[in-house]
Amino acid sequence: MANHLPSALKNAEELKKEFRDKKALLFLDFDGTLAPIVENHEDAAISEEMRDLVQQLSKVYPTAVVSGRGMKDVNQRVNLPELYYAGSHGFEISGPGNFLKENDEAQKVLPIFDKIQPILKQKLKDINGVDFERKKFTLAIHYRKVDENFTSEVHTRVSEVLKDYPELLKADGKKVIEVRPAIDWHKGKAVEFLKEQLGEKDQKFSVYIGDDVTDEDAFKYVDNGLGILVGDHGNKTYADYSLENIDEVKEFFQLLLKQ
Ligand SMILES: [Mg+2]
Repeated sequence: MANHLPSALKNAEELKKEFRDKKALLFLDFDGTLAPIVENHEDAAISEEMRDLVQQLSKVYPTAVVSGRGMKDVNQRVNLPELYYAGSHGFEISGPGNFLKENDEAQKVLPIFDKIQPILKQKLKDINGVDFERKKFTLAIHYRKVDENFTSEVHTRVSEVLKDYPELLKADGKKVIEVRPAIDWHKGKAVEFLKEQLGEKDQKFSVYIGDDVTDEDAFKYVDNGLGILVGDHGNKTYADYSLENIDEVKEFFQLLLKQ
């Protein structure tokens, strides 16, 4: 294990006690945490077993799924209507009882997305394997299928286009560039916001489980939170514990649920 963090699995008994004593709120990333990373982002799916575990956990701990995917997309994939969902890195949040919250500032930027999408497509059309995914508040440019020799060229060209649009910024994920509103908002702030929604007054302790660089905002930013990194994204981490992969996530959930 490259990140040198203590294993959440090996410390599951203590963590379970801490989670129960402090009435933890649970925040879960989707891709790479609940669902395996796949070649085509559209094919990502949560297993029945994992869905069942998340459902059981949500009965013990108020639970939200936080994802870079669009809110509707992640909502449909997880398909547990009793949970909260923060999509597009938290720019859009939904929950039970038709709860809906969208970032007002980000809404103002929506027309610019419509404008830059064709420009970026044109600039990248001669590079094979680039795949666009328009989410409401993010334009994702996937390059998992692009030849490694051309990936830096993808980054360069996207940066060049974005120079003219200060309202937008380029964020890097795993084999994906995400064009987002240049607003100080990220998964960590979405978690802080959701903590107010999900928790009772005395319920301020949160657990966040995620695998991506973008999850670091949640590990770093959230007060009174515990972070668990899944796998290793190769950058500095602010997580407190680690799990090696999705199988370990599943095992950890099973231990948390064990009476
Ligand atoms: Mg992820």
